[in-house]
Amino acid sequence: MKKILLIFGTRPEAVKMCPLALELRRRQDVQTLVCVTNQHREILPPVLDAFHVTPDETLDLPEHAPEDLSGLTAALLAGLRDVLARTKPDLALVQGDTATTFAGALACFYAHVPVGHVEAGLRTFDMTRPWPEELYRRAVTLMARWHFAPTGQARDNLLREGVDRSRIFVTGNTVIDALRTTVQDNYVNHILAWAGSDRLLLVTAHRRENLGPPMERVLRAVRRAVEERPDVKAVYPMHPNPAVRRTAQAVLADCERVLLTEPVALADFHNVLARSFLIVTDSGGVQEEAASLGKPVLVARDATERPEGVAAGTLRVVGTDGENVYRALSKLLDDPSAYAKMAHAVPAYGDGGASKRIADILLEEM
Ligand code: UDP
Repeated sequence: MKKILLIFGTRPEAVKMCPLALELRRRQDVQTLVCVTNQHREILPPVLDAFHVTPDETLDLPEHAPEDLSGLTAALLAGLRDVLARTKPDLALVQGDTATTFAGALACFYAHVPVGHVEAGLRTFDMTRPWPEELYRRAVTLMARWHFAPTGQARDNLLREGVDRSRIFVTGNTVIDALRTTVQDNYVNHILAWAGSDRLLLVTAHRRENLGPPMERVLRAVRRAVEERPDVKAVYPMHPNPAVRRTAQAVLADCERVLLTEPVALADFHNVLARSFLIVTDSGGVQEEAASLGKPVLVARDATERPEGVAAGTLRVVGTDGENVYRALSKLLDDPSAYAKMAHAVPAYGDGGASKRIADILLEEM
């Protein structure tokens, strides 16, 4: 029987790979193994638990500073080399644009294991934004044999780079498969109870290029917008990166109507998203999830690789200039017609059937 190895290691990869792992494990004609690299040591396991996915292989990465990307990449490569030697898969799957994605594809390339890239073809066309993810996703394109593009635009990016049309499959994004399993009417949790009937802003920020002053400016703008409006609250589930937490605590800790929390479970996050008034984020996956739910998103970055939501009007790229973010927030909070123009669901990111499509294609190709 053919063997597929799924390799992932961060929270966003887990959210997008677990639905696919479950789908593949339902298929009779293939053996599916899951290898987690534990690149995100703290926030990966809760996602595995949420989907009841038990890994077959787990890397024991040595502790490294978040900024030591060389050390991380070297450890990932060595660990994955051993996993590939042990498991001998017929093909491997990587997802997205992390160090794990890049090292996973490279280790497979060295070991002559063909690779499929889930969420292929996203581009900002700027190697510094997001950094280092744009390099990772472009490099994986060079190494992959199957390119699972979530959207038509992602497919067109790949075609422009010379990828053979017959190797590209437009499938939708598996994040929407995940979202379809979590959002429920009448969901309750401590964040929604705290928010009550106030308008809730959901904030996330963690991109490396935003660490320090850019993040501080964005969070100050959020604080100002909240403090000026008595019916508005904000919640920020903080990323574990110490640099992120320092800034979040310095700017927001003493603000009564802002809730700083530890990262929350996926179902909690998705249901808070579904009940929020608007989203401020520099995340990739959150842009897709929020746009699919019809929530206006202010993207606190200078460029996005998810232009479909911008074209649809639901995502707005506002950068990290404090005044700019504050003005965009004020407009959405104070002008119902501006809000209504952004608040509509964007179907472009997927319909919940991406994992099934990818599994069908792989089984046909193997
Ligand atoms: N997420 C979560 N709990 C949180 C914050 C985010 O489960 O407290 C999920 C969110 O639903 C999304 C993913 O984590 O699927 C986004 O991860 P992140 O923003 O860290 O990464 P990116 O998508 O920017 O690579």
